[in-house]
Amino acid sequence: MEFDYISFLKDLYKLKLYLLKHEKASTIDELSDYLSLALMTRDRFGINIEEELYSNKKHMYKCMHNYNMKQLDILLNFVNSNCDDLFQLSTNINDAINPNIFDCLFVEYGNFYNKVKKYSEKEFKDLIYPFFAQYGDNTLKAVKDLIENKRLLVGAVQKTDDDHDHDAFTAGSAVIGKTYILTYIDSMILENIVLLVHELGHAVDLQHTMLSQSKKYTAADPMCEVPSCFFEISFADYLVQNRIETDLANNIILAKLSAIPRQFLKYHKMLTSPSDFLVNTDGIVVFDNGTGLKGSNLRNDLYYFIGTMMAANALMIHKDNPKEFNKKFSDFLGLKQEQTLKQNVETLGINYDEFLSCELIKPYYEEKSNELIKRYKYLV
Ligand SMILES: [Zn+2]
Repeated sequence: MEFDYISFLKDLYKLKLYLLKHEKASTIDELSDYLSLALMTRDRFGINIEEELYSNKKHMYKCMHNYNMKQLDILLNFVNSNCDDLFQLSTNINDAINPNIFDCLFVEYGNFYNKVKKYSEKEFKDLIYPFFAQYGDNTLKAVKDLIENKRLLVGAVQKTDDDHDHDAFTAGSAVIGKTYILTYIDSMILENIVLLVHELGHAVDLQHTMLSQSKKYTAADPMCEVPSCFFEISFADYLVQNRIETDLANNIILAKLSAIPRQFLKYHKMLTSPSDFLVNTDGIVVFDNGTGLKGSNLRNDLYYFIGTMMAANALMIHKDNPKEFNKKFSDFLGLKQEQTLKQNVETLGINYDEFLSCELIKPYYEEKSNELIKRYKYLV
């Protein structure tokens, strides 16, 4: 895949000039966009351009601190106002997860490892364009625009920052009117393509936001992982339907639906008493039992959990009536922030009680786990 470095650096420069000009104004979101884009430049060229952005470094750090605290505030508000429902949802999905499948997935992984297929650029496009086309012209357009204009970076890059654990991220800005996807992946194997589809889901969401101007795209939005997780899981399902690497695609679905809730479940007991936690000045959430965790960790685990659960339910709605779903999905993308979990779930056409009880997705999940377990009966 080719990447247009010249346009990328020009855009980065444009954003930098904008930030310098508006140094005193509240440009926190733009600053965060800039830093996301700059991070990749540092990894690629070894130039630390974020450092020289503000003449007054103290000011920049203060901006970032305020930004992090604002994010944490939105996160904790969401937890506070949906605490009982989150507890119910996580308990129900935990009961639905078959604990044996983790071992089966592990063994199957070993079987796949030596025979992974590598996709060419053409094969990659032939695979994902018809998939995104199912979700309407605007969706396909946003995806094609990004890829054909060389704003998707795929390539082996050494990570220099141990602190960030993402293999890919999407960043855009209304100031430059464009979105970029920057990744650390170096080969086009199916699992990486699924990851790219996730990022393209963010790009579709961002594009929608930039066009509508009614909503600000932010990583603090508890719904921000829903579109990306939806396209990711729907793509894996599409592969199964079209008999493309079926076993691997099924396992990707199973792994998502099992591992992400499990990761979140380690907090769910703490969330039963939301009134008893406080946030210290370093942005650490401290619970009444003395445990503390970084706000960003709670954010990641909670938002991927919400994203995955809503995505799996949305997939069931999509399978039932694709046309009707596309309209609902578009409504969802345009929904203003700070709605309740219930309002967001219902906008996607999902019954809220069925969402909390996991009744809608259970048969789908059970079918997939039973298939896998049949192959590895000797393990269970
Ligand atoms: Zn994401």
